[in-house]
Amino acid sequence: MKKYIVGDVEVIRISEIVFHDFSASFLFPDWDANVLDDKLAWMTPGCVNKARSMVTVNIHTWLLKTPKHIILIDTGIGNGRTRTVPMFNQLNTPYLERLAQAGVGVDQVDYVMCTHLHSDHVGWNTCRRDGKWVPTFPNARYVFPQRELEQCQSRAREPAQAGGIYEDAILPVLESQQVDLVGPEGGESIDGLTFYPTPGHTAGHMSIGLAAQGEQALFTGDVVHNPIQIYRPRWNSAFCEDAAQARSSREWMLAYAVAKKALLFTAHFPESSAGYIAATEKGFDWRFA
Ligand SMILES: [Zn+2]
Repeated sequence: MKKYIVGDVEVIRISEIVFHDFSASFLFPDWDANVLDDKLAWMTPGCVNKARSMVTVNIHTWLLKTPKHIILIDTGIGNGRTRTVPMFNQLNTPYLERLAQAGVGVDQVDYVMCTHLHSDHVGWNTCRRDGKWVPTFPNARYVFPQRELEQCQSRAREPAQAGGIYEDAILPVLESQQVDLVGPEGGESIDGLTFYPTPGHTAGHMSIGLAAQGEQALFTGDVVHNPIQIYRPRWNSAFCEDAAQARSSREWMLAYAVAKKALLFTAHFPESSAGYIAATEKGFDWRFA
């Protein structure tokens, strides 16, 4: 497991699953394979299979060890979930074993922060014990954007959504009174972490900045899904709810990353999933870290 150092904070990716065959034209409705002819060295074979028009999508959690706390950002899909998306349905991955390999037991997690409440970001909030969904991390505060919770709750009232993520991944942590909410304006949290509203992918989506001893990082959430969007920032994913907002949040992220020289920890990029952005004459470049 690769360990990143941001000031006095350690950041480690806890992988859940990697999907190698995600249709590029499905994920990006604006997909045009010809952009790869621009010899983007960072669009490695691990990012995209040009011949088959497939991209790789990683699913994982970022583990942060600050001098004071153990923090998880986003919690993947989870095991044993009944999901309408076939690739998310009934997974059985050794995610918690991987967390243990990084030196963290479920009792030790102090905070779980979710950038948004989609099914691939909240799954390990809970796990199944004695036939019941219960919080995976019994001593953690779970921090959610308030608008995300409101949207998730209103969707859960639709009959077609019964048995979905609200019931198995959100409601159990609400019932155990472990949830703290971040208002729509975002703001400072703990240990140098700050929530920034980056709506568009979802209405209440937030990215999370980290400032530690003069160094900067950003946990992007789903503002971007693949490095090709650094080169083509107007390409939204098929899952972005508001196209115009998603584009302006991506522009904000690019400007933030360049201005702060921030190390970006993405939610779905392949390879290491982390890297830096540089401004160029043509736009922006990506460099894996
Ligand atoms: Zn996602």
